[in-house]
Amino acid sequence: MSDIKAQPPRAFSAGRKYSPILISIGLAVLLLFTVRGGDGTVDWPLHGLTVGEERFSPLDAIDRGNVHRLGLAWRFDGFAQRGQVRRGNEATPLVVGGIMYVSGPWSMVYALDAKSGELLWEYDPEVSGNWIRKTCCDAVNRGVAFWNGKIYVGTLDGYMDALDATTGKRVWRTDTITDRLRSYSITGAPRIAGKNIVIGNGGAELGVRGYVSAYDLETGKLAWRFFTVPGAPEKGDEHPELTMARTTWSAESRWDIGGGGTVWDSMVYDPDLNIIYVGVGNGSPWPVWLRSPGGGDNLFLSTILALDATTGRMKWYYQTTPGDSWDYTATQHMILTDLEIEGRVRKVIMQAPKNGFFYVLDRETGELLSAEKYTRVNWAEKIDMATGRPVLTEQANYKDGAKLIWPSTAGGHNWPPMAYSPDTKLVYIPLLELPMTFSMHKNISYRPGNVNVGARVFPPRPGSKEAQGLFNSVMMAWDPVAQKRVWQSDPLPWWGGGVLATAGGLVFQGSADGRFMVFDAGDGTLLKEIETGVGIIAAPITYSIEGMQYIAVLTGFGGGIKRFLPGVAALKYDNVPQLLVFKLDGKAVPLPPLLEKAEIQPPGIARSTDPVVIARGQKIFMDNCARCHAFRGAANGYPNLWNLSENTYAMFNDIVIDGALDYGGMPNFADELNREDTQDLLNFLISDQKTLRQKLKE
Ligand code: CA
Repeated sequence: MSDIKAQPPRAFSAGRKYSPILISIGLAVLLLFTVRGGDGTVDWPLHGLTVGEERFSPLDAIDRGNVHRLGLAWRFDGFAQRGQVRRGNEATPLVVGGIMYVSGPWSMVYALDAKSGELLWEYDPEVSGNWIRKTCCDAVNRGVAFWNGKIYVGTLDGYMDALDATTGKRVWRTDTITDRLRSYSITGAPRIAGKNIVIGNGGAELGVRGYVSAYDLETGKLAWRFFTVPGAPEKGDEHPELTMARTTWSAESRWDIGGGGTVWDSMVYDPDLNIIYVGVGNGSPWPVWLRSPGGGDNLFLSTILALDATTGRMKWYYQTTPGDSWDYTATQHMILTDLEIEGRVRKVIMQAPKNGFFYVLDRETGELLSAEKYTRVNWAEKIDMATGRPVLTEQANYKDGAKLIWPSTAGGHNWPPMAYSPDTKLVYIPLLELPMTFSMHKNISYRPGNVNVGARVFPPRPGSKEAQGLFNSVMMAWDPVAQKRVWQSDPLPWWGGGVLATAGGLVFQGSADGRFMVFDAGDGTLLKEIETGVGIIAAPITYSIEGMQYIAVLTGFGGGIKRFLPGVAALKYDNVPQLLVFKLDGKAVPLPPLLEKAEIQPPGIARSTDPVVIARGQKIFMDNCARCHAFRGAANGYPNLWNLSENTYAMFNDIVIDGALDYGGMPNFADELNREDTQDLLNFLISDQKTLRQKLKE
């Protein structure tokens, strides 16, 4: 074991380009926490650990030679649960001064002793359960920020809360939402940028206009706001960048739908340049033909923005997918580091956005240095280095007919963060391999507050010719200078968790089938796997207390992913949200209870068998319920509407209209459905239950 005291985190070491004078006072505070005086304590104080969010730790007490001894140190399973649904866990925990701060479902925050796992406090922002209707992808949260004795959390219902890190009591709260009638939410981790805390919102699939907001760290007062797309022209442009962006939208654009461009996940702050880099999401609706008739690049959709952290003014931008029509967000994890390219050390920003190209840009100027396909891509041939634009293929255009397009709307890489090791000089990407068939809705019937993507997408049928690589998730090591793959893991079930790399020569990742895996960072050898019984989508962290290195990761499958995909742990075990912390010579992880087979409920009694009523009920199901509840039911996800109890039938209106289960996350639809609608819905469910049960008998 090497001497941890001698190894300050790399972001602060002398070899890096960050001038100590230019590092703000706050970062100096973090430094104090990070390397505490000589007792072998090394924290994880920032979302991506280092200033560049490399997710590379200098800790090396756990290494290639001893990682086979990795076992459980402690476990926390006290995450609050509302209702029946086991929600996903996506957060990266922080460790500051030996205390772990982690967010869970419903934006709750927990402070734990990072050595013993003892719960010190918990904070419940009391998110309205009804707000789940305004989200695309579960009641998840991807992490908190720490600054000068405060913890910052963005809540699902759109508030930015600052908490006292010692007590968990709220110090201030700010509403980040410009229009609470629209479907805005927060699931991302806020970032510290100079004197501000910065946060964006989710909601592009539901018809919103994207923006990112910066608030004073001490007071919560709005410092600046940058809208990522123009609004309705008659209202005028809020800032000059929008006047330029407007020239890339047609005059007949669907301003009423909002345009999209939400900043729902990745940001990274360079204190040296005082720039906050912001990843911007997809358009709303998806096809540019519907969104901005006549086309156009539609700035700043699917763009990396470089904004002055003090003023919010734009320094440069790079649009990864001009005229995005494929849900190709540029919200994926961005890493800042120094790379030697053609004999010159460059300050770079790297991203593997959904669109399948790995980008390396000069982060001072925005100059594109290289871009190559990191996975199968057929919507574009290549990125033209002279213009920085993708060269589209005929396959990209699904305006006049369905097309099978790689990557899928899930992207070649989604939000689970990658990692970069300055030792191996490799980026470790949790890759997703899947195409989808895209077809366009001829007309868009815009229903405010509902999913309005204007396109239909579905994966190819398993076993079909197109299904090659279907639902694979792969751990891949990528050389960002040579722009080529160095190694990759065996295929894993869809989809893999975020990544941690360490100076122990190791790469850590969890998988959907509930394994926690450790790879050799150099050649990809699988050195260790621990069976946890719960799918892992979150990213691991590492820290050290009194010279003992720990690895921590959240379990709990969910988010935007359905739980009934082949091979996922949630089909076999209870999908328990928990925090697992490992160390050398720890214990075995206790497996969660096996899923119990659902009791078959007595058949429902139909009030009507009129096919018109049934068809109407089916449409109501598809429009309102299918976003969460699987058609004809599924194990261990949202409640199976094809197997309701007599009690639930009796309470149907209380639940769907009057909100009896609002708090638990089954929202009421009083604004959308009346009692006649719910009767039609019920008649459809009961009629189709009969059909389904008959089918299962045959
Ligand atoms: Ca999207």
